[in-house]
Amino acid sequence: MRFEDQRDIMVQEQLLARGISDIKVINAFLKVPRELFVTEKWLEFTYMDHPLQIGCEQTISQPYMVAVMMELLELQATDKVLEIGTGCGYVTALLAEIVSEVFTIERIEELLLSAKSLLKELEYNNIYFKCGDGSVGWVNVLPSVSGFDKIIVSAGSPGRPDLLLKQLKEGGKLVIPQGTRSFQELIVYEKKNGNIIENKHGGCVFVPLIGKDGWDD
Ligand code: SAH
Repeated sequence: MRFEDQRDIMVQEQLLARGISDIKVINAFLKVPRELFVTEKWLEFTYMDHPLQIGCEQTISQPYMVAVMMELLELQATDKVLEIGTGCGYVTALLAEIVSEVFTIERIEELLLSAKSLLKELEYNNIYFKCGDGSVGWVNVLPSVSGFDKIIVSAGSPGRPDLLLKQLKEGGKLVIPQGTRSFQELIVYEKKNGNIIENKHGGCVFVPLIGKDGWDD
């Protein structure tokens, strides 16, 4: 079956049927060719309902999990979004379809470089890239940003991401898997009137967030 048809079925069966309803998120999933982000070896499994290996012991997340995280953020066209854990760049592309600017950080140079070249090839011009420890946020890199409307962390953190929360604007939202190295809970933090509100959204499994405000390597 053509990838395009597989993509439509994935959106229907894995996202719409399970209650994903944000039309911006649905349209982004219908548009971005996931097969270009998946390694040759796993190509035939591109649109399956689970994560896949992308090399360097990392994974491309399950489509449904990504959709849940994106929907929880209530993304707006004017948003500046910080993404921690570029990986293969699939989520970066989905975000770039919806929001005004995406700032993405990946600690493994090999992954960052291949994501960057693919996203340039696909002519996204609203993405800024950084190789380094994203657990400390967008620091010591240009362009400097005064604060982010939304932050998405695609790796599991041992605790509350205080350094990232400092970079969240008033009214902003941050989504992060938080827990042990092998099992986490999806948490949404919201900054309201200077306070941080926390909401839990069920269990999940992500690769560990490695860095200063994450796990040791
Ligand atoms: N959104 C990606 C998810 C990749 S898996 C995708 O769907 O392809 C999570 C990624 O987070 C891995 O590539 C891993 O190397 C990266 N990562 C882990 N800790 C990090 C850190 N402190 N800073 C930046 N990236 C990190």
